[in-house]
Amino acid sequence: MIDVIIIGAGPAGVSAALYVKARGKNVLLLEKDKIGGLIANVSKVSHYLSLDKDETGPSFAKKLADQLAQAQIPVHYEEVLSLKKEDQGFLVQTSQDSYRAEKVICASGSSLKDLPLRQEEEIPYHHWPLGQEDQVKGKIVLMNGGSDGACKEALYLAKYAKEVHIIQVQEDLLCIHEFREKIEQSPNIFVHTSAQLESVKVKDGLCLEASFAGQVVQDPQGLEIYVQIGQNGNTGYLKDLANLEGSFVKEDLASSLQGLYFAGDLRVKAVKQVATAVSDGCLAGIQACK
Ligand SMILES: Cc1cc2nc3c(=O)[nH]c(=O)nc-3n(C[C@H](O)[C@H](O)[C@H](O)COP(=O)(O)OP(=O)(O)OC[C@H]3O[C@@H](n4cnc5c(N)ncnc54)[C@H](O)[C@@H]3O)c2cc1C
Repeated sequence: MIDVIIIGAGPAGVSAALYVKARGKNVLLLEKDKIGGLIANVSKVSHYLSLDKDETGPSFAKKLADQLAQAQIPVHYEEVLSLKKEDQGFLVQTSQDSYRAEKVICASGSSLKDLPLRQEEEIPYHHWPLGQEDQVKGKIVLMNGGSDGACKEALYLAKYAKEVHIIQVQEDLLCIHEFREKIEQSPNIFVHTSAQLESVKVKDGLCLEASFAGQVVQDPQGLEIYVQIGQNGNTGYLKDLANLEGSFVKEDLASSLQGLYFAGDLRVKAVKQVATAVSDGCLAGIQACK
């Protein structure tokens, strides 16, 4: 039996793993995709300590991966499909194997929501601009969403695109002062509030035309559409083991079920940042070792 299994290798899971390992426990980290979680995809990591200048998601994620390797923490790339409570500990069923653990820390975070617009022809869109700089060069880009994440990625896209239109369903942008100020100073960013994407004309896999806020934009090269409209909690494997609010866990770090802990963005909480995820991971890791 493994002492502690941690589900998810984002900032919360990596932090938890480091604290558990340092307490002499046998730990296994299960990750369905890549080390780093959501933050591994962002164009620029901000508002955390000891970041390099222009720290990208991938460079930050590499630091996490290096730290896990230095601490000799095993990472198995397997998706957790279900979690069950047994008389002693938990049974974790993954896409490839099953494991028994005395304690489990769920740090499976969240995934970006899909574009809600449905039409006959599938609309090609992306979530993350990093790596797509050539693809957006000189084009018109639509960023759906007006939160910090959407605004930060819109600012990144504006370095390459001809125009970036932020389409925000709410009455105002929901971003920090720093991003708002930069957006206001960007001549090629246009903000549309109380607006949403209404239709997109797609031909041969290209988005030729889109309508929103009573206007139509066209780009013969093809519009590029991005979606950053919030997240869903990655909690499908939990079934009846946790109280959920929507798809997020409404529990303390140490849940009502003995030996089960929750850390990071999968929890209902006011502030979802690397700093709060790392803090959760630290506390859950230490508590799981008591
Ligand atoms: C666009 C954007 C920009 C952001 N920029 C910043 C920033 O600059 N600074 C900042 O502090 N925060 C930023 N954030 C927030 C930050 O990314 C999150 O708060 C942080 O990543 C949460 O960490 P986490 O470990 O809780 O979850 P996640 O990062 O979501 O990690 C969860 C991990 O669990 C894995 N997983 C999920 N389900 C399973 C399963 N069933 N089995 C196995 N593995 C699973 C996932 O693959 C993932 O690797 C940003 C968020 C967005 C959307």
